[in-house]
Amino acid sequence: MGKRVKAALVLLAAGILFAAVFHQDKAGDIPVSGGPDTQELLKSKEMTRFRQVSMYYSEREKPLLKLTKQTLNDAADLNRMLFQNLRLHGIDLVFFSSPKEIEAFSKLSNITGFYSDETRMIGLLPEERERLLKGEGFAVFLYERVLIHEYTHYAFHEKLRELGSEPEDYPLWFHEGVAEWAAAHDTAYVRALPSVVPFAKLKTDRQWQKMREEDEADIYLQSYYMIDELVRKKGKSVILDIMKETAEGHTFEQGFKAAVNEDISQFEEEFRRKYDHEKTALCDPMPFSLLMNGSLLSCAFGWHLHLALDRGVKG
Ligand SMILES: [Zn+2]
Repeated sequence: MGKRVKAALVLLAAGILFAAVFHQDKAGDIPVSGGPDTQELLKSKEMTRFRQVSMYYSEREKPLLKLTKQTLNDAADLNRMLFQNLRLHGIDLVFFSSPKEIEAFSKLSNITGFYSDETRMIGLLPEERERLLKGEGFAVFLYERVLIHEYTHYAFHEKLRELGSEPEDYPLWFHEGVAEWAAAHDTAYVRALPSVVPFAKLKTDRQWQKMREEDEADIYLQSYYMIDELVRKKGKSVILDIMKETAEGHTFEQGFKAAVNEDISQFEEEFRRKYDHEKTALCDPMPFSLLMNGSLLSCAFGWHLHLALDRGVKG
């Protein structure tokens, strides 16, 4: 049985898509972690286990472990709700100590986290480290959201493995939208979309990377809204329903239609009509404790994970 090379989807952090190519013998195999690069990375770090997660950290990150465990519990609860009967295999959660370290490992710059199915790893580079260690609200909030986002990619891949479905059968907007929705659906500040990008341009990794550079678009936010709109229509179970239907040997488009009871083109048309006209930011109040400082209360700033974290990229 030859190895199959898959275009992959290893995913976001800080508004950056961390793309990779990974190898897998067949659907359902669990990749084995611990290649030479990983061993080199982990050998200088401490390790502690929490649930199915092996957390690798240095002394600097030790004060973050408690918050990390709480967030992992939240992420696990949320993903059990989304994916049901989820069987989670072991995963490494690795704290990177510097941008240089995470870049050297991931071969990508300007990221604060990633999920890699190939290496069975969630990587984190905690931002705003000092504020985070002091427990300042907004820094904690952002940290939690990045971790939940990456954890959701992991849980999503585990569910696909269980269903015998392949990650590349799902468009990028679905991967990212589900992760974004998990991380942000219970938060308040989400900006209005600057523009609606045609869904057909949000399918592949290459397209995603290209569109990410577009100033006029926010494809993470759009993908969040796409999932949010589906959930509004059909309930949270729609996410798993689409996955199950697609795994039944359908294309994503067929699986979508079977689960949502409408063509994706029809959904796109309605989505465009609604969000092209909805230019006013949603501005429900965010609990004050979550905010790092009062200026963020202003609706003009809005809030969106990627917007907040993307500054290193977009300046
Ligand atoms: Zn992502």
